[in-house]
Amino acid sequence: MRTVVKFGGSSLASADQFKKVGEIIAKDPARRFVVPSAPGKRFDTDTKVTDMLYGCYHAAEQGEDFGDLLKSIKERYYEIIRGLALELSLEQEFAEIRDNFKNRIGVEYAASRGEFLNGKIMAAYLGYPFVDAAEIIVFTEEGNLDIEKTDIRMKERLSGMDSAVVPGFYGAQEDGTVRTFSRGGSDITGSLVARAIRADMYENWTDVSGFLVADPRIVKNPETIETITYRELRELSYMGATVLHEEAIFPVRKEGIPINIRNTNRPDDRGTLIVESTCRKPRYTITGIAGKKGFCSINIEKSMMNSEIGFGRKVLQVFEDQGISFEHIPSGIDTMTVYVHQDDFVDHEQQVIAGIHRLVQPDYVEMEADLALIAVVGRGMKSTRGTAGRIFSALAHANVNVKMIDQGSSELNIIIGVENRDFEAAVKAIYDIFVTAAV
Ligand code: ASP
Repeated sequence: MRTVVKFGGSSLASADQFKKVGEIIAKDPARRFVVPSAPGKRFDTDTKVTDMLYGCYHAAEQGEDFGDLLKSIKERYYEIIRGLALELSLEQEFAEIRDNFKNRIGVEYAASRGEFLNGKIMAAYLGYPFVDAAEIIVFTEEGNLDIEKTDIRMKERLSGMDSAVVPGFYGAQEDGTVRTFSRGGSDITGSLVARAIRADMYENWTDVSGFLVADPRIVKNPETIETITYRELRELSYMGATVLHEEAIFPVRKEGIPINIRNTNRPDDRGTLIVESTCRKPRYTITGIAGKKGFCSINIEKSMMNSEIGFGRKVLQVFEDQGISFEHIPSGIDTMTVYVHQDDFVDHEQQVIAGIHRLVQPDYVEMEADLALIAVVGRGMKSTRGTAGRIFSALAHANVNVKMIDQGSSELNIIIGVENRDFEAAVKAIYDIFVTAAV
């Protein structure tokens, strides 16, 4: 058995957290490939090391004295080293970082040092070899991951190894320039390592016991999701459920490797298992609810639209020309509505209206802002009658007016559009009818 274990920033924020991680790794001999993040927050008002690095590099770029800022970053690491009673010096690494900052080597290099240094500590603590991610994760010059080259390089380097620490979040271009993923990207590194070594499991250790059925800021103490499929997860993360970086799914999914989200502070909790497919019945009809505010709808009406071939394509062409991605397009006989992110849209709205008039000569175009979309996701919905009925009667009881309904043919999710101000009430009502009423 081979398990890749990735630990997030809060799991590695202090020596005490490192000790918990050490115990977790020691408990299962399969846990031999370790991907650490940079030290995160030790308490609510603390600053993540990655953010300290961004700040420090910014000062360097402005030609300001960044000595004190770098010193406080160094102190974060030495506090961990002392707490673990390690004989480890990072003096050489910090001297090199200082020089590189002075030479304005690049902000992505700066941010990557958080994981690099934490990887050094982790390797010393566990007695595992350190493998620099810059040698095995390949980025293109545009800053995108080259997944094929990465896979080859990782396989070459890691397949003969018994154990290794690979720092998360970064890699390098062929010319050695260090590049990073977007924030939270250590999850992607873990997934890539799991794929390359053909791991049996990718454990992603964080500070929550898995995915929750609904957002805890809206629903008090929501239940944890025990098992979720990649497809369900994709729907939920797209709609704002953030525990795992969205792009972390693809590498392992290709290999059918399950991901287990676990809690470093509650290691006995089983967390959430993310799988390709499962026969396990979900506990409730729905797997999860997620949603986002801040959408607007553009409603286009034209009589006899239904018989005008190419109408939809032309409308969407207008959005494409303005570089706006659409979310949903519910339609009627003579109407078509396009849902978009309000933030992306506001600066382009007049061009879009003009474009629509030019291309399809509508009878009129009407817009509505401040809408929210809610996704009710569940593989269990396919085999259950009455799910939609229950959702809408719950919303009616909660006095929520439904503006839009969209159920994909996969029957995996139902998307509901409501006004921003009804968002919380709607999520609560749906949670209660499926979960609270079922327990
Ligand atoms: N340290 C980076 C961040 O704060 C990457 C990560 O933690 O995954 O975003």
